[in-house]
Amino acid sequence: MQMKVVKFGGSSLADADHFRQVASIIKADPCRHYVVASAPGKRFSADIKVTDMLYRCYDMIRSREDITDYYQQIKDRYNGIIADLGLNFDIDGELEYVKNAMTHASGRDYAASRGEYLNSLILAKYLGFAFIDAENVIFFKDNGSFDAERTQVAMREELKKYEYAVIPGFYGIMPNGTIKTFSRGGSDVTGSIVAAAANADLYENWTDVSGFMMADPRIVDKPCSIETITYRELRELSYMGAGVLHEDAIFPVRAAGIPINIRNTNAPEDAGTMIVATTASYDADRVITGVAGRKGFSVINIEKDMMNAEVGFTRRILDVLEDHEVSFEHIPSGVDTLSVIVPTAPLDDAKKEKLLAAITRRTRPDSVVIEDGLAMIAVVGRAMVKAKGTAARVFNSLAQAGINIRMIDQGSSELNIIIGVEESDYEAAINAIYKEFIC
Ligand code: ASP
Repeated sequence: MQMKVVKFGGSSLADADHFRQVASIIKADPCRHYVVASAPGKRFSADIKVTDMLYRCYDMIRSREDITDYYQQIKDRYNGIIADLGLNFDIDGELEYVKNAMTHASGRDYAASRGEYLNSLILAKYLGFAFIDAENVIFFKDNGSFDAERTQVAMREELKKYEYAVIPGFYGIMPNGTIKTFSRGGSDVTGSIVAAAANADLYENWTDVSGFMMADPRIVDKPCSIETITYRELRELSYMGAGVLHEDAIFPVRAAGIPINIRNTNAPEDAGTMIVATTASYDADRVITGVAGRKGFSVINIEKDMMNAEVGFTRRILDVLEDHEVSFEHIPSGVDTLSVIVPTAPLDDAKKEKLLAAITRRTRPDSVVIEDGLAMIAVVGRAMVKAKGTAARVFNSLAQAGINIRMIDQGSSELNIIIGVEESDYEAAINAIYKEFIC
């Protein structure tokens, strides 16, 4: 029999109706052995996620405000779910314990983590599954990084004890015994870790959309969804993945060769998107798997005659970036020019001045300037390698739409074409490329 690990996000566990839906999904397939749960998410757009309420409690305690009334709302959410499900389960002792622990100087991560802890207790009870506390099976190192080896051993041992279990997402434990969380959305990472330890055949990640779209639906009207995408394509489209799957969630399962299936709790009949290591199949009519991008980039343009003959020139530029803790996205270059694309947000005017001064000192260029207002677009597709004329189609579609291309970079794997355009052209560019390939 297959082994599946399933993770349900906050919107899938926001209220009792969703709990019922989740239970019916789990019970419909006996292969769904291990369930990773998030904290209750938003029930309607103006609602507040329990995780955010817990962060707020923590901040209130730090500023010596009384949290009694505010915390009551959190109690009400959990007790509301229990009552509505008709569960015979008293969670008040746990809720009181958490309140006391938060008040008595436990950390910010502890406070935030209780959202998944309490929700998982309820879900385990409702499903009749065992409860495995993440603090016994997910470990971090002293420096705060995830301890994969220790986690793998402990998680394996613990999972062996139970045929079916619920594990809270988002958190684990530090060597000194304090609770630490992954970054926001980190239950996806927990799910991936559990899937790898369970040697699962499939990691199902249940959320509120039916997988990835070929383009951002806020920009393109009703874009098609992606049936299958490789891990590498997804990395190239990582601008797009944001919001659906935590970036770090692919690593544990990818290493173990386990595919991820993004599914929609509100439309379980939809196949969703499969994320796989490799696949020979692709849709020959489409060529591209997706197009995604982001605004908010700057370009550092450096010019110097005979730059190409100067050994170590690029290294000196990269040294300067490293010294100033600036990470770069792309470095397209010409014979006498080099451009470095960097995110704009971490660069205030003072930092820009320092960067320019340091580059001038280290490389004596003919000119160096920083320009803001660039948007980066990634056109990604495993079929591009086989299809002739893809780049021409991309550039033509932009030309036809009257869009000026500021930068081009094609990865040597021919999996992607990266284009820089003015921020004001961004939406039009995404639409032009999408329409060129998908009619
Ligand atoms: N509840 C956490 C958050 O809101 C973690 C998660 O849902 O994955 O970020």
